[in-house]
Amino acid sequence: MDFDLTEHQRAVRADAREFARERIAPHARELDRAGEHPTDVLEAAGDRGYAGLTVAESHGGQGEGLVELALVTEELSAALMPVASALALHLGVAEAVERLGTDAQRERFLPGMAAFETVGALGLSEDDAGSDKTGIETTARRESDEWVLDGHKRWVTNLRHADEVLTYARTGDRGEVTAFLVPAGAYAVDTVWDTLGARTVKSPRATLSGVRVADDRQVGTVGDGLGERGRLRTGINVPARGVGIARATLDATVEQTRTREQGGQHIADHQGVRWRVAEMAERADVARLLVLRAAARLDAGADVAREFAMAKTYATEAAVDNANDALQLHGGIGYTSERDVERHLRDARLLTIAGGPNEGHLDTLAEAVYDQHPRGR
Ligand SMILES: Cc1cc2nc3c(=O)[nH]c(=O)nc-3n(C[C@H](O)[C@H](O)[C@H](O)COP(=O)(O)OP(=O)(O)OC[C@H]3O[C@@H](n4cnc5c(N)ncnc54)[C@H](O)[C@@H]3O)c2cc1C
Repeated sequence: MDFDLTEHQRAVRADAREFARERIAPHARELDRAGEHPTDVLEAAGDRGYAGLTVAESHGGQGEGLVELALVTEELSAALMPVASALALHLGVAEAVERLGTDAQRERFLPGMAAFETVGALGLSEDDAGSDKTGIETTARRESDEWVLDGHKRWVTNLRHADEVLTYARTGDRGEVTAFLVPAGAYAVDTVWDTLGARTVKSPRATLSGVRVADDRQVGTVGDGLGERGRLRTGINVPARGVGIARATLDATVEQTRTREQGGQHIADHQGVRWRVAEMAERADVARLLVLRAAARLDAGADVAREFAMAKTYATEAAVDNANDALQLHGGIGYTSERDVERHLRDARLLTIAGGPNEGHLDTLAEAVYDQHPRGR
């Protein structure tokens, strides 16, 4: 067993770390405070190749695996989580086209997506289809060689800066759901939520009313959209975003407690503080190990239900716990927007809900544990 990254993976991580430090971090606080879309940052990320990170080289991408996606996502999220989120959702749409689409769809959409000239977003959740996506009510009915879509999506991250929304709609009376690439302009935004965190990339509610799409925009098997979605792999980005926040808040806390003096000693001189920081480091490392294990097994083509659920639940909780401890150990200044920890805490809070609430992943994990445990012990 080898716990070291390859030379190539270390180079990928170093490149992303430099990008995050130079292009994102200097603007993160201000963008968050203003609730301003990180348009320039995302364009620069596209120029750096991150919009095609996991897209095959034959389609203009970088052809990297899930370990590399996890490494890049950690770095971007450590600087500004919603940047990692917008890119990862885009890569998820590209993955669906690449793995489930036709040759014609791959040729038509992937080169533009890899170059970030075509930006993807995800239209899956609805008012009554949150943790249980079988509640999808948006419909797609066939009319000659077109599909007509009616309904709504409750959260479409980056919709207003996207070009194509991978949209899931009901295509039968027995729970059949099918995926379509719908031009983002066909959606009418009705609510831009005022959210606790992730304030720079909005996730509005939007409706579809009699939207016609040609047959060549239907992706994957008609009726098996949800089943096929369950086999996509770029969802590893969600816990990887947690690792980024867990690490960033640890780094900020080490710096703060080692430099801030009160009562003639540094805050870090208190054993209670040191133990808390040690536990933060433990959480960040365990979270990263779990995410990289799941990513490596995904790259190897393994079934990772157990490993993925463990990574998702642990890493996203680690992000919340580390951000919370970081804020406490920063004292009052941590409660202000002069520092990043309050933003990290607000952003981290999304991750235990997004990508499916952790409770659902714990159900999956428990099922895998019972299934895999030999009977009669
Ligand atoms: C900022 C933001 C951005 C998002 N972006 C997108 C996007 O781009 N595209 C998209 O399609 N969706 C997106 N989502 C939707 C997200 O995936 C859902 O919010 C998530 O799946 C949970 O659904 P829900 O909010 O309806 O919660 P509900 O389903 O109402 O669940 C509420 C709570 O009930 C509990 N719960 C649920 N299931 C179980 C269970 N099995 N066992 C025990 N407890 C349970 C959990 O505590 C859960 O948090 C986004 C959400 C947010 C907040």
